Parts: sequence; structure tokens; C-alpha cells
Amino acid sequence: MSGPRHLVSIDDLSLAEIRELFERAQEFARDPRAWASLCPGLISASLFYEPSTRTRLSFESAMLRLGGGVVTAADMSQSSASKGESLADTVRVVGGSYSDIIVLRHPSEGAARLAASYSSVPVINAGDGSHEHPTQTLCDLYNLWVEHGRIEGIDVVLAGDLRYSRTIHSFAYALARFGANIICVPQAGFEMPEYVLQRLREEFGVEPQRADATRLGSLAAASDAMYLTPQKPHQLSLFTDARGWQVDRVDAVYMTRPQTERHGAGESTSEYLRLGKRAMAEESLRDAVVMHPLPRRDEISEEMDGDPRSIYFKQAARGVPIRMAILGTLLGRLDSNAESGAAPVQRYPVKIGDNPCPNSTCISHTETRHVSPSYQLASRSPLRAHCAWCSQELPFTHVACTSTGHYHLASAPCLRRVRPDHLVFMRDEGQARELGFEPPQRAARTCP
Ligand SMILES: [Zn+2]
Ligand SMILES: [Zn+2]
Repeated sequence: MSGPRHLVSIDDLSLAEIRELFERAQEFARDPRAWASLCPGLISASLFYEPSTRTRLSFESAMLRLGGGVVTAADMSQSSASKGESLADTVRVVGGSYSDIIVLRHPSEGAARLAASYSSVPVINAGDGSHEHPTQTLCDLYNLWVEHGRIEGIDVVLAGDLRYSRTIHSFAYALARFGANIICVPQAGFEMPEYVLQRLREEFGVEPQRADATRLGSLAAASDAMYLTPQKPHQLSLFTDARGWQVDRVDAVYMTRPQTERHGAGESTSEYLRLGKRAMAEESLRDAVVMHPLPRRDEISEEMDGDPRSIYFKQAARGVPIRMAILGTLLGRLDSNAESGAAPVQRYPVKIGDNPCPNSTCISHTETRHVSPSYQLASRSPLRAHCAWCSQELPFTHVACTSTGHYHLASAPCLRRVRPDHLVFMRDEGQARELGFEPPQRAARTCP
């Protein structure tokens, strides 16, 4: 028995499937009013545990354009959730009788994966906390694809607050996966975090290079620009010298607002980047489209609104055809020729000890009744593991093996041979002893 197909993460889709969605979306966009015979009689339920009006309207407009119907709970935190109904119970009720597909927005990271595991109908993740928002990422990619006819090999500037913007991190992974080159132009003090660079390195072979961004002019004047290209380092070394990668011509500038709600004390953005006609007058930016996930504040000057390179309003509007393609596909109303799914991810349940996830808003902490803590391995050497729900890295100093009953320093080479499902992650040595594990030298059995 195979359950319904969900969209929890963009990694649930193969590159071929994503390209197919783009082609569908382009067909829909040509005449959005011509598709009402695709999903008549089908109902989409918007379950929004935090308000996000633009995302919700975009999904609902897409469903109505396909001839389907919509039921909406625009603020679930005011209704059943406040009476204590769990997310798992809600999706079983809503998916069973009220609707044929669920669009879920939730403040807890991992909520969409939980909903998918209990739902009898497809679940679309419309944002789970600061984790993922796959349809937003697909919409951004789709815009590049429409504007440039391809994504592979294009040069995209990511500018502004690269530290706290979830949108930017998801977008960077997706760009690397498609083989685009990324030029980071961060606001000073808001550089791309190390864990994002690490994942780009581990999954896509991206080695950060210093970039010589003089040709970007004032856009990059106050910034240490960095060049990220999904190639192997030995290829890169052929092209770079001490000045760093020469940024020549750019295909897109993706601007983000300062994520002030996530900034700590002393993190000021009073001198935030501002993109205007003068900055965009550089020859290197002549053909660069200007993108922004909206809402904007002052980071893109209004004088840019009439510039043909500014596509940020179009960018939002294109969310409707791409969501039509996603809804139609998951509802089984569009045939697919693409090879489905990306590589399946192995997830292992935590068998001993507390939930090791350090993220207090993770669904594994907020809905403990229905979620069993679990992990996935990010790397064997050095050993790194993530919460399988929210993807946060697990902090640990020692690691035990359930079959031998002893523990090791996290850096111990013998851990590489321990079966992934036998690993137990400990925040310190004391916890290892509390749980009854022994240091290796006193253990009766030797390392596997
Ligand atoms: Zn977690
Ligand atoms: Zn051992």
C-alpha cells in the first residue's frame, strides 16, 4: 500500500519533476482561466496555524483556477488548537472528509512531516517555522527559469541579510542543486552561516571562493563578496588567483529584507543595503533581473519599480501557476513522465535517552504525543547528525553504541563502523554514564 504523495521538502522532488512543474506552470500562465476542468469536485483545505495571507491567497487562487473548491482556516491558533486538539488529529479529520488535499502553515519546524505521516490525503508544506517553504523556493526557481530559460550555469547574487533569512538558505541549496553559481553579497555582519556553507560543501561540492566584486560597483562595495560554485575544487583552481573569482556579468540579484525579528541585541541594520537605479547602472548588472520575496521595506528603492529588470511583483504573481502545477500533480490530475522522487533519506528512531533535538520549537518537542524523536546522519566523518524533523544539527560530545554498550568521544574513528541505528548521541560524558554506557576500556566487548 502506498500512501498519497506529499510535498514536505523540495528534496521530495527530483530535478526532472521540478522541470516538469515549470513546463506545466508556463502552460497554465499562458491562459490561467482555461483550466477549470482539471480539478472540479476536489477541495483543498488551508490549515494556517499562523497567518500568511499572501501564501494562502496564492494557493487558494491556484485551486480555484483549477476548478476546485477551497475551505479555509486562516488562523488555526484561534480555533481547534486552542482547545488542545493536536495537529495529528486535525489532519486526520480534515483530510478524511473535508478535503482532498491539505495546505499547511505551522510555526513548528517539522510540522508538515508530522501531518504527512498521519494524513490520508496529500499535504503541502506552506512553511514550517524557520525550516522549509518549498513552494516559495520553487516559485523563485521558476522565475529564474522563465527569465533565463535555464538555471544551470547562471550567476545569481544573493544580497542583504544572508544570516537569518530561511528563504535565502533554501534558495541557495536549490540553486546549487540545479548547478547555478551563487555570489554572496551580505550585509556586513550578516554573512551566510557556516552550517549552510557546510551543507553546500557536503551535498554539492561547493567550495566558497573569495570573490573580486569590483565590477558590481556600489552593490558590493561594503561587503566581503563570496563566490559559490557547484564544482569540484580542482576545477576552480584553474580559474582563480589571489584576487579571488572575478565577478563579471550577473543574471539575477535576489535582495532580502533584514530579518529584524530574529536579530539579537547589538545586531543593527541601520546602514542596510539599498538597491536603486545608481547601483543597478553597472555594466555587470545590465541584464540582471531584480528579485525580492516581498514584503519589502527600504532595501529596494521605489524608483526601481518601473525598471524592466525589476520582476518582484511578477515573481509573486508567478506563484499561482506554479502552485496550480503542484496541486494538479499531487491530486493526480496531471500525468508525469519524469522519474519521481529524490534519493530516500534514512531516518532512525532515538531508542535511548531524551530527545536530543536542541530546537525548542521543533515539532518533536511541541507535539510529543505523536512524534517519536528521530535522527538522520549528515556525515560519518566527522560524525554529524540532524534531527529528522527540523533538520537542526544535534549537539553531542560523546556517542554510544547500543549493541556494545560503551561510549566514545564523538571524534573516535571506531564510530565510523557502528551501525547508524545503533548510535546514541550524548550532550556530555555524564549523560553517557547516567544511561548506563561504559567507557570502552572497561567494557567487556571490544569495538565492532
Ligand atoms: Zn528537531
Ligand atoms: Zn565501540
